[in-house]
Amino acid sequence: MFFMRKEKVCFYFCNMNRILEEIRAAVPALSQRVYDKPLVYLDNAATSQKPVQVIELINKMNSALNGNVHRAMHYLSEMTTELYEQARERVRLHINAPGRENIIFTSGATASINLVASSFSLRFLREGDSIIIAGDSHHSNIVPWQIACERAGAKLKVIPVDGRGRLEVERIESLIEPGTRLLAVTHISNVLGIVNNIREIVDIAHAKGVKVLVDGAQGIVHDKVDVQAMDCDFYAFSGHKLYGETGSGVLYGKSDLLNQMPPYMGGGEMVERVTYEKTTYAPLPLKFEAGTPNFIAAAALAPAIEFAAALESGEWGRAVKEEERAIMEYLPNALLEVEGLRLYGTVGEKIPLYSFSVEGCNSSDIAQMLDKLGIAVRSGQMCSEPLMERYSVTGMVRASFAPYNTLDEARFLALSLKRVVKMLR
Ligand code: PMP
Repeated sequence: MFFMRKEKVCFYFCNMNRILEEIRAAVPALSQRVYDKPLVYLDNAATSQKPVQVIELINKMNSALNGNVHRAMHYLSEMTTELYEQARERVRLHINAPGRENIIFTSGATASINLVASSFSLRFLREGDSIIIAGDSHHSNIVPWQIACERAGAKLKVIPVDGRGRLEVERIESLIEPGTRLLAVTHISNVLGIVNNIREIVDIAHAKGVKVLVDGAQGIVHDKVDVQAMDCDFYAFSGHKLYGETGSGVLYGKSDLLNQMPPYMGGGEMVERVTYEKTTYAPLPLKFEAGTPNFIAAAALAPAIEFAAALESGEWGRAVKEEERAIMEYLPNALLEVEGLRLYGTVGEKIPLYSFSVEGCNSSDIAQMLDKLGIAVRSGQMCSEPLMERYSVTGMVRASFAPYNTLDEARFLALSLKRVVKMLR
């Protein structure tokens, strides 16, 4: 690059800008103004913005193709069932699951984890046993396990996180005891943005006969997920963080475990035969899909995944990678120029997600003032209260980037933050 002639450098950057503009144009919400200022959307870890093809499919299904799935013989029902099952196949391919029976549609990562915490624990967790969770967990991967342990009379143990945010993986072996049934870990923390080495964790757990659930709410967006290569027993994620619709989610599970687990909810579609005396259940995956699912949101996972795949390949992929590299090189240093700023999650492989606190400033005040400048960030405990306690803070500010964000937006954030902190002090 340094040896490129001037015209070539210009061509390179102009082309990059054109591609990024093209990507952003595919996501209508990004071009809006808030408080009469261009929106700078940096709360992607909470929910991402949707591309045109997702919006179009949702609109089409709501306005025309609306028939309940798996139930009727009529055209509309057949069309929605086809879209619903096509989305299941698209998800299967995306995470390399062996079969469609391994893909259960849920309403989100939280629902997926609750399903396992309830159903797996009913089958396998007994008094005196234990479950291990990761110290970088979201509440969704803490509370369901607490409930399950309370019900069974089991213990909940925690893998600690060190000062720089690293999960202390080397402590797992000593935490495992004969009655440990499952390890629930985070693929990528929503607070620290650190990518955990799932295969390494799975190997440690499996060597001792312990099953592993992975909370992939952030992992599915920022890392390649191959559930067979990871060898995890369960993988949970939400559609709305992956450019899809709210109310959609996925639980991947290994067939032998899912077959041994009792249903989570009872109702329509999850049955084979019902009598007042006894009910037999439908085969996987329908055994875990009781009631009318959010079939429009589930179907929208297909175009959402297509968009995610497009962001990783060809000229889009190259432009996104280059912009992300530039953001990650620039932003941590620019943030640390703010006096009294403390950055969390500063070790290992990271995604462009930056959580920080600023001495003498309340995190909500910072977020509110940034909002008035058009910048959307998250503030507070970020559904990870124990992690806040770990760092002795009441809250943090988080800027989380998606592939459609730009270096210019990162620059505007750093500049605005300096102004805001000056005003608050
Ligand atoms: N786990 C992690 C790591 C998350 O970031 C989130 C959402 N912030 C969840 C679980 C819960 O996802 P949802 O609310 O979509 O179920």
